[in-house]
Amino acid sequence: MKSKFKYFLLTLWTLSLSAHNLQNYKAVNYCGTYDNKNITVIRDFIIDGNKSLLVVDNNSLQTKIIPKTRITKTECDNNSEYKKFLKLSHLPPYPLQNDGITNIGNGIHITTDMCPSSKKGYEQRLYIGLAKYLKRPVPVTIFVSGRWIKKHPKAFDELLDMQKDGNLSITWGNHTYRHIYHPHKSLKQNFVLSPEERFIPDILDLEKLLISKGLTPSLFFRFPGLVSDKKTIEEVAKLGLITIGSDAWLAKGQKPKNGSIILVHGNKNEPKGVDILLKLLKINFPYATSIAFHKNHNR
Ligand SMILES: [Zn+2]
Repeated sequence: MKSKFKYFLLTLWTLSLSAHNLQNYKAVNYCGTYDNKNITVIRDFIIDGNKSLLVVDNNSLQTKIIPKTRITKTECDNNSEYKKFLKLSHLPPYPLQNDGITNIGNGIHITTDMCPSSKKGYEQRLYIGLAKYLKRPVPVTIFVSGRWIKKHPKAFDELLDMQKDGNLSITWGNHTYRHIYHPHKSLKQNFVLSPEERFIPDILDLEKLLISKGLTPSLFFRFPGLVSDKKTIEEVAKLGLITIGSDAWLAKGQKPKNGSIILVHGNKNEPKGVDILLKLLKINFPYATSIAFHKNHNR
């Protein structure tokens, strides 16, 4: 009886992939237990009239949307795997480019960025290639921007279909909603360091868009242009998110090695990186693994 009841609750709380009404979305930070697991609560909101939370499993780093009534508050454990990883992601010296976690210690981690783009469509060949040459479903982290989703609804739906069909296992990373970029400005006044940037809403708005589409945002954040400073790196961490850089931006000639976080663009803005990855996939490339927690991440 008990398990049937639990199943009923789970069914109720599996959000369907259609539009949901989201209200009172705010960042919070406290700990608790849910389903016998230690969790950190990072967002509080109302979805379709139900009080809800976005929580992180302190051990697996998986995020989940749960009913607010289902958690029991506890003290926070500052030595949890999540807190350790979070701490590591915002240590000095705060380089202007490629701060955060750039290598996960082992495995190969494929990340594709979806910056806003005026190009029609997307790099379909990339995602089809991943599913063709690697073990399906292929773990891929897509750092998506809100403006890309708005302009490319068909491409976005196709990616969701690839997930549904068991070809991809997508982790949705945050690449900000607006992803401001000025072609002729210096990096210090560009991307999220642009004077007009409203950084925290830019991060939360993307999460809201994903949740309203029935998806669960992950913990992972990638700065547009990989450009950040001390203040913005600390703001990301304060929101409970982990900054992910890359040690293998393929279009820039960087070669993947063990633990690499590969960066290519899935929005057609940098076909060179996709050409390189597709070539690699054909020559006995190691299996891709997801950016989950590993003990030896590097910066
Ligand atoms: Zn970008």
